[in-house]
Amino acid sequence: MLLQQVLEAQSFRRMKLFKFFTQELAIDLGTANTLIIQNDQIVVDEPSIVAINRKTGETIAVGTKAMQMHEKTHENIKTIRPLKDGVIADFQAAESMIEGMISMIENRRTFFGHLKMVICIPSGITEVEKRAVFDSADHVDSKETYLIHEPMAAALGIGLDVQEPVGNMIIDIGGGTTEIAVIALSGIVCDQSIRIAGDEFTSDIMQYMKRQHNILIGERTAEQIKIHVGSALQVLDTPPDDYFVNGRDLMTGIPKQISVSYQEIAHALDKSISKIEEAVIKALETTPPELASDIFRRGLYLTGGGALLRGLDKRIAQKTKLNVHVAEDPLRAVVKGTGIALKNTDKFSFLIDRKSI
Ligand code: ADP
Ligand code: MG
Repeated sequence: MLLQQVLEAQSFRRMKLFKFFTQELAIDLGTANTLIIQNDQIVVDEPSIVAINRKTGETIAVGTKAMQMHEKTHENIKTIRPLKDGVIADFQAAESMIEGMISMIENRRTFFGHLKMVICIPSGITEVEKRAVFDSADHVDSKETYLIHEPMAAALGIGLDVQEPVGNMIIDIGGGTTEIAVIALSGIVCDQSIRIAGDEFTSDIMQYMKRQHNILIGERTAEQIKIHVGSALQVLDTPPDDYFVNGRDLMTGIPKQISVSYQEIAHALDKSISKIEEAVIKALETTPPELASDIFRRGLYLTGGGALLRGLDKRIAQKTKLNVHVAEDPLRAVVKGTGIALKNTDKFSFLIDRKSI
């Protein structure tokens, strides 16, 4: 009896020691933003961008610092968004970014223990790209790495039970891609991924300003317009005030200021939003009938930064005649879900390890 107690105490101590020497990270590798959770806290929340010295190939800055240089660079510096359209456009830059983001975590550099990670990736990435993500994880000395697909992480992040035999439809509108997936019994039953999302909205706004107002604006200004007066509908219940924009007049070449209304932006975004609606309808059409009836009862769930666009939920609800729920914190749903996956790596069969690709 006494011996058993001693053994139990010893194994408990060993467990504690193991925990002390284990560092666990959940990473949302998004096309627009990368977030990291450690010990249930978001410790990194940065734009997915790196600045590189063109001559030496050296990484100069990662995240917000690199974003500040974006579109303001000279010939020796270039900024790269490694995951541009929901695929890894630049492997080396992606690796520098992952390493850079991880090294931002405070006690990371001094840690030599067992590192375990779950990384969320866009569903569209290929096997080769998945391998590249595993390799990047190896380079930061991860001893145990799993990948999770974005819609699955989003579903976990908004608190859905993905293991039950009930269908849920998730629409994640990120920077590069909109991913629409039906999830049931721990798997993705059907899945649509289109390259129309936040970046496309931004470029719609840039083109509209050029065409309609003869004014050239940069990506970051267009992004601000989207956030301040972005809208999916011509009529909003609580409309935002007009927004003042500075840009370069195409005729005179001189900087000027104009004001923009949300109705104008609703007009500029209309075509892209219609494409998202079409993809949602297509996903609904390909959903097996039993799951479709679950979705009819439960409605659709919107996640990702695009879910914050004014009136988008209402517009999709009108189009599909289904209820649309916007996640409480759409920009963080995926990283939260990745954090839940990190705690359940032994239970969740849908996690991808290196052996399974
Ligand atoms: P990803 O997972 O691809 O990194 P996110 O889910 O982080 O993407 O969403 C980023 C996108 O959401 C960007 O295109 C950003 O401009 C957009 N976004 C963020 N806030 C808003 C907002 N309030 N209104 C509209 N779009 C927004
Ligand atoms: Mg995302």
